[in-house]
Amino acid sequence: MPYSEQTVQSVRPWSDKTFSFTLSRPPDFAFENGEFVTIGLKREGKLLARAYSIVSTADRDHLEFLSIHVPDGPLTSELARIRPGDSVWVNSKTTGTLTLKHVRPGRVVYMLSTGTGLAPFISLIRDPALYARFEQAVLVHSVRTVAELAYREEIEALNRPQLHYVPTVTRETFPTRERGADLFRSGELSRRLGLPAPDPERDRVMVCGNPEMTRELTRYLKDTGWTPTGHRGVGNFTTEVAFVVNHE
Ligand SMILES: Cc1cc2nc3c(=O)[nH]c(=O)nc-3n(C[C@H](O)[C@H](O)[C@H](O)COP(=O)(O)OP(=O)(O)OC[C@H]3O[C@@H](n4cnc5c(N)ncnc54)[C@H](O)[C@@H]3O)c2cc1C
Repeated sequence: MPYSEQTVQSVRPWSDKTFSFTLSRPPDFAFENGEFVTIGLKREGKLLARAYSIVSTADRDHLEFLSIHVPDGPLTSELARIRPGDSVWVNSKTTGTLTLKHVRPGRVVYMLSTGTGLAPFISLIRDPALYARFEQAVLVHSVRTVAELAYREEIEALNRPQLHYVPTVTRETFPTRERGADLFRSGELSRRLGLPAPDPERDRVMVCGNPEMTRELTRYLKDTGWTPTGHRGVGNFTTEVAFVVNHE
């Protein structure tokens, strides 16, 4: 039985479109920080499950997730209503391409995210191993509205001199309104942070965002001399889509 029944411990709304929640952790549930797992709800005996990045780190005794609320989404229209004590089903198998093993150590690691694509990077920035592997870490989170800047206070309070947090808000008044992908490509991101221009020999890039942004950045990186991690080995950039577009 790959799925086990777990209990909702807490729910934290961020905006009308996003919320976080924690679950009890199945015994023997092993994962690497940055991985995802499928979780779901049972309705009339049928399990409806979707992929979710794990926000919490592997050393904690609970599991934490950041979720979108798609009003007519089969899973999230229901998941948005969970309360402490409810059941959520968690697969025992985790996987993913955004772990520290997916990029070689280096000078600066750029973690570029949109929306709920922030989730795996919260796990990574909470992990002291990130700061041992890289001299500097840049976390960019691009969203449409300020309320969608989930975990903003926690990130700012981490007090890691090596971590540069760059929130960007595209549809409301905010100090930085550009898309993170554009800031990276133009070189403006590193310039503003006083970092050297990104260099495939020394720096690393991790991307988790909407399919269009992920595709766009993958193309840009390949065209400018970066090598993706894949079956040929560990490269200097790695990507994961934060969701797939449903064409039903
Ligand atoms: C590898 C992977 C990791 C994922 N991790 C997360 C995660 O950590 N948190 C999370 O909320 N979702 C995540 N997703 C998406 C998730 O699996 C579901 O798609 C989402 O929970 C919505 O489920 P649903 O059944 O309500 O709607 P679905 O039928 O799955 O989706 C309906 C539509 O909603 C849109 N949509 C779906 N998910 C998102 C999203 N996250 N942000 C913006 N628009 C979206 C798409 O246009 C999609 O076509 C991940 C997907 C993949 C492939």
